[in-house]
Amino acid sequence: MGFKGKIALITGSGRGLGKAMALTLAKHGCSIIINDRGEGNEEALQTVKEIRGMGATAEYLSADVSDFESCKKLAEAVRGKFERVDILINNAGITKDRTLKKMAPEEWYPVINVNLNSMYNVTHNLLELIPDGGRIINISSVVAFLGNFGQTNYAATKAGIIGFTKSLAKELGKRKITVNAVAPGFIKTPMTDQIPVEMLDTILQLIPLREMGGSEDIAEAVLFLASDGAKYITGTALRVDGGLSF
Ligand code: NAP
Repeated sequence: MGFKGKIALITGSGRGLGKAMALTLAKHGCSIIINDRGEGNEEALQTVKEIRGMGATAEYLSADVSDFESCKKLAEAVRGKFERVDILINNAGITKDRTLKKMAPEEWYPVINVNLNSMYNVTHNLLELIPDGGRIINISSVVAFLGNFGQTNYAATKAGIIGFTKSLAKELGKRKITVNAVAPGFIKTPMTDQIPVEMLDTILQLIPLREMGGSEDIAEAVLFLASDGAKYITGTALRVDGGLSF
């Protein structure tokens, strides 16, 4: 698929979907920059170990994506160690669910900062390290299209990511850098393990494919958008949701 020699940076990739993306890109020959919060982050270091065990190059560079200065330092570290980033995946995200009436500022602002302000913090600082023909992939969610009870904060960020993606695609088209979003549906991860069983049954009835997705389904979609084969696709939001949102 032409990934040999390519460098990919995935935010929030110590575990979950980001880790699955990192392992999949590494399997296809990419060098991987794992990003997460905290210097000695054990999950992130374990992920690096696993990728190196596959014979691929991997490095952990910590940064808090909700913090502009931290992302500026991340870009400096990337410049020093790798010089460029061919594939940037803005994946880090959090939830703090509550109905709007009860939602405290401590539940609203961190979600906006980690999920949406990170798009600016990370992409703005790394942009000059992305060569012509590069790839930017932003992880949105099915709730961007459907909304979700108790997720006004989260859904606002995930819909915002799609507007960000479409606008940046227009700005970077002349450099042949593609910018796309992936919108996962309900995927089996620690994030969705918290959903109560009764609610899960109701959700499954609404999914035409009648099952939750696996992290590999998201990783494969990301792999495709990052590949040479997707060079004429930009500004789109690819829904990977078993049909839930159409
Ligand atoms: P996850 O298992 O919670 O992983 C998220 C990763 O992001 C964690 O390693 C987390 O590290 C890191 N992170 C959080 N805040 C950060 C920050 N400020 N700076 C750097 N890293 C940070 O979640 P996931 O399920 O893999 O989700 C990944 C993405 O997919 C998110 O954007 C999520 O919204 C989206 N998504 C997931 C699903 C799903 O079904 N799982 C569905 C739709 C969309 P910490 O340990 O420090 O928190």
